[in-house]
Amino acid sequence: MTTRSRELSRADRIVPGLWRLRLPLPWPGVPHVNAFAIAAIDGVVLVDTGLHEPGAMRQLERALDQAGLGLEHVRLVVCTHAHSDHYGQAAPIMERAGCELWMHPDHAHMTRAAEDPERAFERRFEVARQSGVPAEVVAEAREARRGRGFGIAEIVMPDRDLLPGVEIDTDLGVWQVYETPGHAPSHVVLHQPERGLLVSGDHLLGRVSLYYDYGYSPDPAGEFLSSLDVVDALDVDLVLAGHGRPVRDAHGLIAANRGAVGERLERVRRALADGPQTAYELVPAMLDAEMPSGMMLNWGLTETLCYLRHLEHEGAAARVDGAEPEQWAPA
Ligand SMILES: [Zn+2]
Ligand SMILES: [Zn+2]
Repeated sequence: MTTRSRELSRADRIVPGLWRLRLPLPWPGVPHVNAFAIAAIDGVVLVDTGLHEPGAMRQLERALDQAGLGLEHVRLVVCTHAHSDHYGQAAPIMERAGCELWMHPDHAHMTRAAEDPERAFERRFEVARQSGVPAEVVAEAREARRGRGFGIAEIVMPDRDLLPGVEIDTDLGVWQVYETPGHAPSHVVLHQPERGLLVSGDHLLGRVSLYYDYGYSPDPAGEFLSSLDVVDALDVDLVLAGHGRPVRDAHGLIAANRGAVGERLERVRRALADGPQTAYELVPAMLDAEMPSGMMLNWGLTETLCYLRHLEHEGAAARVDGAEPEQWAPA
């Protein structure tokens, strides 16, 4: 069981016409998610939505109210990616505001999974089992997950595909869309070039915190590294991240992320030299920590699998033929 956060939402004005709406989350180590309200046509464009959970709409309305706004002012919902904390409340917000949703078309990693949560969770448990997670640990995870959804109020499709070339017109100027897959296949960042503002979603956070969706694209870690290059080429004064405070040093952050990915890849590569191992067995080496449990194990396993995939792509690692559960060795 997770302990529900008792924190309340709030709004911070970043610059005139742009508010950070800090919405609480019930997740370990991730106390809140940011939505951003950007003044536009007598209202606001709302970037990201918060997670669908009891009280979520009240929390959003509380934050909007602090900014002198209400749901009726939302002219458009834009999602940086289809994860539940950024997209979960899209449907009820659109309904209350009577507005459109714009999001990248590669959202099946969430929208297809959320259509049938039981099946999607079973698929994850099967990946865990294949990756060497002990049966009793998988059983515990299954028990903890029983009856729980994805944090998505309702699957809603975008009215418009959020792709490069689509412009988001606001009182602060026009925002450009850049595809930044890696953290999630549907991930985009929004850039306002004249003001040097970047709404970075979960692609770039104030502290390095790596997560990739596994199983929807060939090499999520490699895609993430390429997406860092995309953002590195932009003029950015201020990063408005999906979690945590706005931060200044975009290029420093990008370098720190590249460094962290490189270090973790190297740890996995070095650990593989000790002989064939399952992805599960490699998790402590990848984290340079004890074997985690619960959600942290799930995240650690996913990350390890992504590094193995990346090393496989580079020709540095390979699956051991016929091993059950799946084992990895240097290529
Ligand atoms: Zn995310
Ligand atoms: Zn997030």
